[in-house]
Amino acid sequence: MRYLVLSDVHANLFALQAVLEHAQGRYDQIWFLGDVVGYGPHPNECIELLADLPGLGVAGNHDWAVLGKLELDYFNPVAAHVLEWTRGVLTSVHIRFLESLGEKIIPREHFTLVHGSPRHPIWEYVLNKVDAMFVLDYLTTRYCFLGHTHTPVIFQAASKPGMTCREIPLFGDSSTRTLTQESLLINPGSVGQPRDGDPRASYMILDDEQYTLEHFRVEYPIERTQKAMLDLDFPMPLIYRLSLGR
Ligand code: ZN
Repeated sequence: MRYLVLSDVHANLFALQAVLEHAQGRYDQIWFLGDVVGYGPHPNECIELLADLPGLGVAGNHDWAVLGKLELDYFNPVAAHVLEWTRGVLTSVHIRFLESLGEKIIPREHFTLVHGSPRHPIWEYVLNKVDAMFVLDYLTTRYCFLGHTHTPVIFQAASKPGMTCREIPLFGDSSTRTLTQESLLINPGSVGQPRDGDPRASYMILDDEQYTLEHFRVEYPIERTQKAMLDLDFPMPLIYRLSLGR
C-alpha cells in the first residue's frame, strides 16, 4: 500500500489542491497528521476535500482549538484571530469531521501517527535532536509520522547506546529513501504553511511494502491564498509569511 502523508494544511485550499494533483495516481490512502484548519481562509473547503478521500487522520492543536478543546490563550494573537473566525464559519458537518480525528493512531504494525509528539500528541514540538531523543522513549512502534513544526525532517534514533540520534533534513528532492531498522520520527513538512524557508507545499509518499519514503515540494498559487486572506482582513504577518515559507 502507498500512503500520501500530509500535515498542517491550515485551510490553504490552493496548496492542498496542488498536492493532491501532484500525488494523483501514486497513493492508495491518506495519512493526515493534523491541523486542517487555522491560519488559512478555506477551512470548510479543505475539510470537504480531505473527508472525501480514503484514509485516516489525527487532530492537531488548531483543530482542537476550533472545537474548544484548547483555550485560544495558548495561541499567539494572529493565530487566535483566525481560530476565532474559523469557529464562526465552520459548518456542523465539518465540525463533526474534526471531532472524529483521533489523538494518536497506530494504523498498522510499525507506524504511529500523531500531530505533535508520541509523548504529547496534540501540542508538543519536536524541533531538534534533543527533543527527538526525549520523545523517542514514548514511541511504541518503530516509526512515527508527526507534523506541527511545519519543517520536513527525519530524526533517526541512535543505533547504539550512548550515541545521539541523527537529524536528517529534507529538501523535497523526491529521491527514494529506504526506512532504517532504527526508530524514526518523520515529519513530512506542511502543506499550507511551510516554515523551513521554502514556500512550496510539502508532502511525502510512503510505500509500506518496499519500506520507502519519498519527499516532494510543490508550487501552488500562493497569491490566490493571500488574496482570499486579504479579503477576509486576516492579519498581515500571516499573509506575508506564506511568500517567505517562514
Ligand atoms: Zn500547524
